[in-house]
Amino acid sequence: MTIRRNFYPLGMYRFMLDMATDQKLAVDEVAFNVLRIGLSELGFTCDHTNIGYSKNDQQLHSKPYCKNCYSRLYRTADKRVFKGKIITEEEYRPIETFIDRERKELEKRAKAENESSISAEIETG
Ligand SMILES: [Zn+2]
Repeated sequence: MTIRRNFYPLGMYRFMLDMATDQKLAVDEVAFNVLRIGLSELGFTCDHTNIGYSKNDQQLHSKPYCKNCYSRLYRTADKRVFKGKIITEEEYRPIETFIDRERKELEKRAKAENESSISAEIETG
């Protein structure tokens, strides 16, 4: 087993630490969320097929996660077997992160602002 240590620049670390404290997450989890978003904008995709289960975190005991991208997942379909044959495989979807929620809120606000500026332009003609 290798020991992994991340050293972040002070300013970035403070920012992530504040986010992590607000969301009650580990700094590394915030960092992975940000990294995942950054990489997905550069073309990174993950089909979340390499499933692992957390064991150490008591609060999240045996919750699924993706070993390839560290996304927290939830099961949307159970494995169903009938007479020894697999009828449906298990399916997993990523849990919405706090960053997803914040981005949705920002998009909603930008859209509302855009619509109000358009309606203002129409009114003033
Ligand atoms: Zn994944």
